[in-house]
Amino acid sequence: MPLPETGTLSIALGRCISAGTPLGPFEGTSFEGLTTASDTGLIHAVEDCPHLAQASSVRAVGFNLDASSLERLCTNWSCRWAVPDDGRWPVFLDALDALSRLWSKEEEEDTLPSEADVAAAAGLLSLGEFPEDEADADAWERHAEARACRDDLLALWRNPQHRLITAGDGLAACPWLRPWAEARMTVWAERRGAASTAH
Ligand SMILES: [Zn+2]
Repeated sequence: MPLPETGTLSIALGRCISAGTPLGPFEGTSFEGLTTASDTGLIHAVEDCPHLAQASSVRAVGFNLDASSLERLCTNWSCRWAVPDDGRWPVFLDALDALSRLWSKEEEEDTLPSEADVAAAAGLLSLGEFPEDEADADAWERHAEARACRDDLLALWRNPQHRLITAGDGLAACPWLRPWAEARMTVWAERRGAASTAH
């Protein structure tokens, strides 16, 4: 993989900009790419992309970034295009990165502690952070569990909060993304609301 030129970022555009992303001022930006003989095939950035290993013929192609070329961009990490590392590109890519964290599935595994667990933990911690009887091992364990329950709730509340703030900053910088990102922002705002209510 060639080193990026000075003043440019080397970006796997096919990964960083998912199909369907509104491109705003970047719509129509021209790039050079490589494609196989078929005109509908993927557009690659480098000849040594693993997806081109089997290709019988590869030709250079110029393309403008738009909804249809975006769908054809190779998503292999080796297919990276150079974009300017100043001005609006880094801001756009940061915004997409922040938004992609709202898309991420990992948090959907998280479940809030049950209301009964939260009530029990709150009741116990209202008596003190630690049990009065230092020798009571069971009480120590119950208090430790109650503190863990509270910490989990706080983390669940702060994490969406943090992601929403970062994504909101990205949308402020790239307002053309707003209508597209709104639905997901709402889901996360509701999630934050659920976590803070439970807290
Ligand atoms: Zn490729």
